[in-house]
Amino acid sequence: MTNLYAALKPAFSRELNKIIIATDKQQISGKALDEHVGRYANALLSLGVQPGERVAAQIEKSFENIVLYLACLRIGAVYLPLNSAYRAAEVAYFLGDATPRVFIAAPERQCELHPVAMTAHVSVVLTLGTNGDGVLAEMASSQATDAPIVARTADDLAVICYTSGTTGRSKGAMITHGNLLSNAQSLVSLWGFSANDVLVHALPLYHIHGLFVALHCALLSGAKTVLQEKFDPRAVLKALRNATVMMGVPTFYTRLLADTELTKDAVKNVRLFVSGSAPLLTDTFIDFETRTGHRILERYGMTETGMIASNPLQGERRAGTVGLPLPGVSVRIASDGATLNMNEVGVVEVKGANVCKGYWNMPEKTKAEFRDGYFITGDLGMIEDDGYLRLVGRAKDLIISGGLNVYPKEIEDAIDALPGVIESAVFAIPHPDFGEAVAAAVTLRDRAMTPDSIINTLRVQLAAFKTPKRVYVLDELPRNAMSKVQKAVLRERYKNEFAQSSN
Ligand code: AMP
Repeated sequence: MTNLYAALKPAFSRELNKIIIATDKQQISGKALDEHVGRYANALLSLGVQPGERVAAQIEKSFENIVLYLACLRIGAVYLPLNSAYRAAEVAYFLGDATPRVFIAAPERQCELHPVAMTAHVSVVLTLGTNGDGVLAEMASSQATDAPIVARTADDLAVICYTSGTTGRSKGAMITHGNLLSNAQSLVSLWGFSANDVLVHALPLYHIHGLFVALHCALLSGAKTVLQEKFDPRAVLKALRNATVMMGVPTFYTRLLADTELTKDAVKNVRLFVSGSAPLLTDTFIDFETRTGHRILERYGMTETGMIASNPLQGERRAGTVGLPLPGVSVRIASDGATLNMNEVGVVEVKGANVCKGYWNMPEKTKAEFRDGYFITGDLGMIEDDGYLRLVGRAKDLIISGGLNVYPKEIEDAIDALPGVIESAVFAIPHPDFGEAVAAAVTLRDRAMTPDSIINTLRVQLAAFKTPKRVYVLDELPRNAMSKVQKAVLRERYKNEFAQSSN
């Protein structure tokens, strides 16, 4: 049977009394985890939730959140995690689109969201807090601990994850039990996970990085997960003393580097640091190695595909690349429907058991984003001679200035290499002559640098059409919770820069 829970359960409860999840408040054994999941599964069954029906949740990160997710898998319901930052109007869209049978809200937002759920015709609205409180937790407490694991095929939906689209409607990626299981099995073997591992988990649970990549690797290998409510450098450093693995977004690493307590000794038990969800700066990779002796392992994936490529556990971890395609995952680089050669930049396309079924309620969009079985990621990249994949940005971030392509990553690398620059984001501004002009937002270590001094230095290194016409010095780049730079925010902020003039 391919219910993901049927694969996870024997792994995490192999040694019944071993601690599988540890929080500030609780130490939960594999046996206790399965019993908690059984209770939640029975509570959902008592509400009449059928296999294939959606259960949406907008709750804060907690142990109970994990239990709810696993209970949905167990009964064959489709879990729908929602970022806790979404406002009521956004929640209204997701509920209206996904038509869940049940919506579970954080207790403190129940008053605000109950009417929203009613308008979307959701028949059951419950609450779940972070301290074992809330209506669902109460219901579950009186249920039996044993519940069936409902048979599922590899093609049955397990989760709908809405992508954080910056333009247009957010799309619900339909992720199956088969997608999740195949990806989890690959990663456990690729990254050498075992029951001896202790994972520090400080990522959100509404996104694939925390919910799938981190959690599945740990559960499927019977490892222990140390669950942190959020990323707090001091708390993470404390947990790392007794940990073997951490997964994080690049900002986790820059924030750890900013803490003087990050030393070789503080991480001496750690065997693996993984980074993903956004590009890891080469400087961060180097600084982290200098401070800790660890070469961060960078991997690449997306909501629609799970993990696609990874630097190796053994072998060269090459900064600035996302490594090699996972076993069983085909990656090709294409442009206008033709497959390109090595070292040529084009759109990354992906095929394999990891790729989702398409977008919920959007058959046209689904059709448009697949080409002969390959999913068109929208990321631009190239494959180096020895197979390493190097990303150069999102296709929608490509700048076309005077008819010439400018890859933001190339310009960002040139800017980041200037002494005194911390990091940069290169984006397009509408321009009356060139169509688009190159612009850059930068953060500086050396405040004496100016936009003009940066532009003048770059002018010697880059062709004129690639040299930024404007440089904006910011305190920090706008980022979302997953550490991704929000170029749409920058484009919007500076879009009228050339509206009046043509310089
Ligand atoms: P999400 O669906 O939120 O996981 O976002 C997926 C996108 O994040 C990908 O399409 C990439 O643009 C970006 N991404 C993920 N991992 C990396 C990485 N290691 N380097 C650069 N971009 C990444």
